[in-house]
Amino acid sequence: MKVAVIGAGTMGRGIAQTFAQCEDVETVYLCDIEMEYAEYGLKQIVSVFSKKIAKKKMTQQEAGKILGKIKTGKDEIARDPDLVVEAVIEDMEMKKKLFKHMQNEIVENPNCIYATNTSSLSITEIGVGLKKPVIGMHFFNPAPVMKLVEVIAGLNTPKETVEEVKTIAQKLDKTPVQVEESAGFVVNRLLIPMINEAIEVYSEGVADITGIDEGMKLGCNHPMGPLELGDYIGLDVVLAIMNVLYSETADSKYRPSLLLKKMVRGNHLGVKTKIGFYDYADGGKRPIDVEKEAVSAADTKKQA
Ligand code: NAD
Repeated sequence: MKVAVIGAGTMGRGIAQTFAQCEDVETVYLCDIEMEYAEYGLKQIVSVFSKKIAKKKMTQQEAGKILGKIKTGKDEIARDPDLVVEAVIEDMEMKKKLFKHMQNEIVENPNCIYATNTSSLSITEIGVGLKKPVIGMHFFNPAPVMKLVEVIAGLNTPKETVEEVKTIAQKLDKTPVQVEESAGFVVNRLLIPMINEAIEVYSEGVADITGIDEGMKLGCNHPMGPLELGDYIGLDVVLAIMNVLYSETADSKYRPSLLLKKMVRGNHLGVKTKIGFYDYADGGKRPIDVEKEAVSAADTKKQA
């Protein structure tokens, strides 16, 4: 099987690694708008493997075999995939445009399956006006580690495609869970409002960052606190999902936190810009006073 992963950011590179690790996959095209972004994605995978090799969890030969399957470039290199997994930013127009471009101008395989890794958007709407149907194949971060893949059919997604994608997820050693189309699907409808509420709790001064994160780790047995998780997911992604939940339901319980909006406007996006609720400068992780500390954000995530 040949797979094209479009978007080499946080999710795309993890998804590309996941597919490349699968025996059934011969080639993974890791694509982005600029060659250097795709190469940066590959560099991040190499860095993950180097750490594994240093810890003797992987051999150089195993790493070489997996990395040898990954071809980086602009979207144009993905001419013959059997599956396209779109992982560009969480924006409806951007995703629609991307699929149209891939289906009409790039992909030559008539049997190719088109999947989106959207966290919250309507699969039906993404697929409207396209030649081929789209399906939701929602991986979780970090994709090589997290076992769940939510599989979401839009109104026009054939049942056979749903079954094929579930089978592919199983081949990746993931557990596919089929869910109905609904804003945020299951996991993000529950998870993201919790992170948003943690930001509200912080901005009301109920507790500081460490207090909130430690509270949820020790009190609820969560492996990460909600604020560090927000930083890890990307606060822009958190805001995009809250906006979808809010606009789809018109329910005020999904209103995005004003502090979240402010941080996104200031490019304080979390790990990817090295600043969010924590400061990640020099490989560290220090909780900051978000409102008071004047810490300049890295200008682009590509430097993260
Ligand atoms: P990101 O901002 O880290 O990466 C997006 C990448 O897409 C960037 O490198 C950008 O240059 C690239 N891109 C934009 N337009 C493109 C185009 N036309 N062709 C090729 N590349 C293009 O975003 P992310 O966090 O990886 O999220 C990607 C998608 O995955 C979103 O839909 C998001 O909601 C979803 N998602 C994110 C997470 C998470 O934890 N971050 C988890 C599950 C799903």
